[in-house]
Amino acid sequence: GASRHVTARVAPLGTRLALALVEDRTRERRVEAVRRDFVANVSHELKTPVGAIRVLADAVTEASDDPEAVRRFSHRMITESERLTELVQQIIELSRLQGDEPLEAPVAVDVDKVIAAAIDSSTVDASAKGINVVSAGTAGLHVFGNDEQVSTAVTNLVSNAVAYSDPGSTVTVSTRATDGSVEISVVDQGIGIPSTEIDRIFERFYRVDPARHRSTGGTGLGLSIVKHVAATHGGEVKVWSQEGQGSTFTLTLPQHLPTAGQSGTSKEER
Ligand code: ADP
Repeated sequence: GASRHVTARVAPLGTRLALALVEDRTRERRVEAVRRDFVANVSHELKTPVGAIRVLADAVTEASDDPEAVRRFSHRMITESERLTELVQQIIELSRLQGDEPLEAPVAVDVDKVIAAAIDSSTVDASAKGINVVSAGTAGLHVFGNDEQVSTAVTNLVSNAVAYSDPGSTVTVSTRATDGSVEISVVDQGIGIPSTEIDRIFERFYRVDPARHRSTGGTGLGLSIVKHVAATHGGEVKVWSQEGQGSTFTLTLPQHLPTAGQSGTSKEER
C-alpha cells in the first residue's frame, strides 16, 4: 500500500528530504485520526436525536387514546428534530471551516450590524430567561473578513452567554480597537467554567456538563466554530472565566480601516 511506496522512495532522497517526508506522513496521519474521530463523534451525536424520535414515534402510536400524552410526545419529537437540524447545520458549517484556509475575498464587515443581529437572534431566549443583553464600547468599527462567518461566531458567543447565565443577569457585548485589530468581547455573569475544563471547551462536541447541556439544547460545536472562524481570519479567541462569577470570551479579528475619503460611507460599502 501507501507505506511501501514511501519506503521505496526514502533511500535516494537524502536525510533532510526523508525527514520532511516522515513529518509530512505524521501530519497526514494526525489529520486522518482527527477526521476519523470527528466522523465517529458525528455519527454518535446524530444517532441520539434520531433514536429519541424513533422511540417517541412508537410512544405516540401506543398512546393514541390519550390526547395529552400524544401532545407531550409530539412536542418532544419537535424539540428533538429541531436539535437534529441545528446539529446538521453546525456540522456543515464546521466542515466548511475546518481547512482553516485564509478567506478568499475578505471585505469590510460592519461590527455594529453583526452585534445587533447577534443580540436580535438571542432575544427570544434572553427574554424568556429575563436576561438583559446590551452592547457597549466603540461604535463604527469594521473588521476585514467574511460577514457570515463573523456573524456566526458572535451569535454563538452571545447565545452561549445567555444559555449559561441565570435569570436577571446581564450579558454585555463590547467592542474596542487595538492596534490593527478589533476585539469583540462577550461578557456574562453566568455559571462560569471550571479551570480544569477551560482548555477543552473549544474542542468539537466537548461540553462541561452534558446533563445540563441537554436541557439547554446546545450541540457542543458552537465554540469550535468560533475557533475556526478566528483562524480563517488570522485572529484568535480567548476566554477568561471564574466559576459562579461569569465568563468573558474575546474574539480578536483584523481591523478594516476605511481609506481616505471613504470614512462615513463605509457602512453602505457592501
Ligand atoms: P454548546 O452547544 O454545548 O454550548 P459550545 O461549543 O458552544 O457548545 O460550548 C462548549 C461548552 O463550553 C458548553 O457546553 C459549556 O459547558 C461551556 N460554555 C460555553 N460558553 C459558556 C459560557 N458563556 N459560560 C459558561 N460555560 C460556557
